[in-house]
Amino acid sequence: MRIENEKDKNTGVPTKSLEFVGHIPVSEIFYSIQGEGKYAGHPSVFVRVGGCNLRCPGFGKMGCDSYYAVDKTYKSEWRLMSVEEIKKEISKYKDKKPHLVITGGEPTLYYKELYPIVEWYDGLITVETNATIDIDFEKYPKYRDVVFAMSVKLSNSGEKYKKRVKKEVIKKYAYNAKKSFFKFVIDKDLKSEIDDITENIDLPIFCMPLGADKAELEKNAPFVFEFCLQNGYCYSDRIHIRLFGKKKGV
Ligand code: SF4
Repeated sequence: MRIENEKDKNTGVPTKSLEFVGHIPVSEIFYSIQGEGKYAGHPSVFVRVGGCNLRCPGFGKMGCDSYYAVDKTYKSEWRLMSVEEIKKEISKYKDKKPHLVITGGEPTLYYKELYPIVEWYDGLITVETNATIDIDFEKYPKYRDVVFAMSVKLSNSGEKYKKRVKKEVIKKYAYNAKKSFFKFVIDKDLKSEIDDITENIDLPIFCMPLGADKAELEKNAPFVFEFCLQNGYCYSDRIHIRLFGKKKGV
């Protein structure tokens, strides 16, 4: 479905047209194994939305590893889907009883539009987020049952602190959605930054090696392993990058 209408200032995605109200730009929906974080190894359906409020130029040549869900030059590949269309795609895998992963891009840009899916899905849901966008947990209480994988960006993302760290938002996620966890991308000792972000929040901290491809992942993994041991953090690998590199839909 192609759209040429009024555009959202953060994402460049047309969201204001009456015709498409309630529709969500989707980069891809696929069934795979969760490759990182608290639920690494779990069979999962991924709904990857298009658009992000950050760019993370520090993460490799293309910036973010999901560049095709962020970079507007790939926008023509995104589909504006209704909630019912997304539910139908997710339902194709229901016999596997998968974990539902809503990812991006930045899915919380569309947290209101995605809410009917969160209310409907009967199983574990993770929302993978940079934790910069405020969510109204009073009005959308089902988000309290969701696991937020808070991948708050550190200085190695190349983003400015003010843009990537919103402490009030992080606290709100942590206090409302108590099964959430932190997930940081590491290539050097960034403990002081992690301490600053996680101050007074008692949630698990996962660190994973920075790596847009297998070679870079393997280069950073031994350091991150030691870094986790020394600081009492959980180590997370990135199974999908190890097995498939930059391939989409895995
Ligand atoms: S916040 Fe995540 S999705 Fe957005 S640009 Fe950074 S790494 Fe990519």
